[in-house]
Amino acid sequence: MIFLLALFAFVFGTLIGSFLNVVIYRVPAGLSIVYPRSRCPHCGHTLTPLELIPIVSWAVQRGQCRNCKAPIAVRYPLVEALTGVLFAIAALLRPDFPGLFLIWAFMALLIALSFIDLDTYELPWQLNYGGLLLGLLGAGLLSYPQPFPQALNGALLGAGLLAMVNAFGVLTILRGKNNVWTPPFGYPQINLAAAVGSLLGPAAGLVAGFLNVAFNLRSPRPLRIPDLLGLALAALGPLLALIPGWFVSPLASLKGGLLSAGGIALAGGIYWWVQEWRSPKAQPQEDGEVVAMGFGDVILMGFLGAWLGVGNLIVALLLAVVAGAVIGLIARRITGENKIPFGPYLAIGGLVAFFYGSDLIHWYLSYIGAR
Ligand SMILES: [Zn+2]
Repeated sequence: MIFLLALFAFVFGTLIGSFLNVVIYRVPAGLSIVYPRSRCPHCGHTLTPLELIPIVSWAVQRGQCRNCKAPIAVRYPLVEALTGVLFAIAALLRPDFPGLFLIWAFMALLIALSFIDLDTYELPWQLNYGGLLLGLLGAGLLSYPQPFPQALNGALLGAGLLAMVNAFGVLTILRGKNNVWTPPFGYPQINLAAAVGSLLGPAAGLVAGFLNVAFNLRSPRPLRIPDLLGLALAALGPLLALIPGWFVSPLASLKGGLLSAGGIALAGGIYWWVQEWRSPKAQPQEDGEVVAMGFGDVILMGFLGAWLGVGNLIVALLLAVVAGAVIGLIARRITGENKIPFGPYLAIGGLVAFFYGSDLIHWYLSYIGAR
């Protein structure tokens, strides 16, 4: 019975994979994903249903357009097969509905985001925030895969963690060179929120960050605290908390800073998404040399956090860093490309941690003799 479900999942997955090929190609280009019907990019021939059978059509046509014989990239059937295999694995590991539908959606979004990141070094807002929203909805309505408070906590901490890694990275690597985002809403506000949050708690941190943004929206002269000051204060919170008798623990202080940074970062992404949608020119400057990691990765960490919760999310990040270091270095040798997209590694780490995160944590704890 379970194998019948897995078989169905595979076939269904290849169909979704075929749709993901369209998403991967059209979303970064700003095209509609429903219209027009799929066509050969070479000759414009509209594909018939027979030419749209996942994997099979490509194999039967020997990787060529039936009309003009132009080659069709092997990546198309590969994405279809990958989606089918992942959907089947999910069906074998978590064969219960409606949860399985949510996991399939989780996987589909991660596949689309990964390939778009490989192609364009960007993670589209709508897919990132779509995944985040779906994670929060699943948690809120079905308590799946985890209760809502854990999902929200994971989302904020995830985004905050990567925003801070990013901010500290830019500071140390490039000695305080200005980070991305122009006023009113950017890293200076994230840093301020982290500083206040680590000293006085997440509520105070979020209020400080949003007050700064509100001021900047009204004032012709935007207010920004220097990156170095903001980050130094953010680091000071957990250090002060080491003092015996301090009113919060170091961990609580760290959490306060990260939750605040995450809240401002996720809100900032929405702000820039709206700006970009209103006028494509207003988007924040993304200078590949200045950013240690793209801001899309920050939102993606929020998305993953909403699905994984904090513990598994940290496992996912560690797996992503290791996978990125190993695979990235090999890929760099082969392609000579210096820029490495981090999204696919986060997606791999996220998927592994989703199913095996707690196992890995338990294994590691017993390995070091903690339990
Ligand atoms: Zn053609």
